[in-house]
Amino acid sequence: MRALWLLGLALPVDVREVNAAWRGRVARTHPDVHASEPSKVAAAETLTRALNDAKDTLLAWIEADLEWPTGTTTVRFDEPDPWPEREPAPHEAPICLRSGLRAGDRVRRWPYDGLELSVVTGTETDTPGGTTWVLLAGEQAERMERVRLAAFSCPVCGGCSGPDVDEASLRPCPECLVDLRRLERRPEEADRIRRAIEARAEAGIATAQSLLDGRLGDRARERRRWVRRLLPAGPDDLHAALLGAFSRAFERWSSPAA
Ligand SMILES: [Zn+2]
Repeated sequence: MRALWLLGLALPVDVREVNAAWRGRVARTHPDVHASEPSKVAAAETLTRALNDAKDTLLAWIEADLEWPTGTTTVRFDEPDPWPEREPAPHEAPICLRSGLRAGDRVRRWPYDGLELSVVTGTETDTPGGTTWVLLAGEQAERMERVRLAAFSCPVCGGCSGPDVDEASLRPCPECLVDLRRLERRPEEADRIRRAIEARAEAGIATAQSLLDGRLGDRARERRRWVRRLLPAGPDDLHAALLGAFSRAFERWSSPAA
């Protein structure tokens, strides 16, 4: 199960899928990719080894025609694994790590109740740790604190926001992006983050009800069920499950094909 998780696969799998998943992950984590940054090389080597092991395990399992583990999808980790660096491809709009926004996002300005949406063209931060400004198409820049992502639904926490539009974007919310970064650095925060996700799912259910949007409501309820199921998980399992959910959502959103 750990090998499947590492390669982002779900049962059933075949040889072709295992190889394709392994190639995709190794291409991003291979130490040569990070050769310019020595601090990352060691982490990349560890992860590449883990990916190689995972591929070998799964191929051996398929070859031997063994039964897959059933009844549990719990993933055990002996120690937290480093996760691949996700450098955005050059043609993608970079994500502002302070606001969780990127060019093209639709937002609402304070007091957040209007139907009018602004489109983000970028962000600027005055000095390290200073005010972050969100640049808006055809409008004056606005402080990050006075801008909120609009018309979206988060695949991790189920959080969502109006106004009611035909196509709400499916993307990780800024809070989940911040939590992903925290979780990568501080696994011991997994429990606090789980509780925060549950709170965002609750809020998402209420928001979806006020928008009369069944699809957003279904997603928020599904995410609440998911995060509640993690309640009895031990710290390592919880960390792995959260990291897996965040990473899948982030990768889907940040890949150009999404
Ligand atoms: Zn979220």
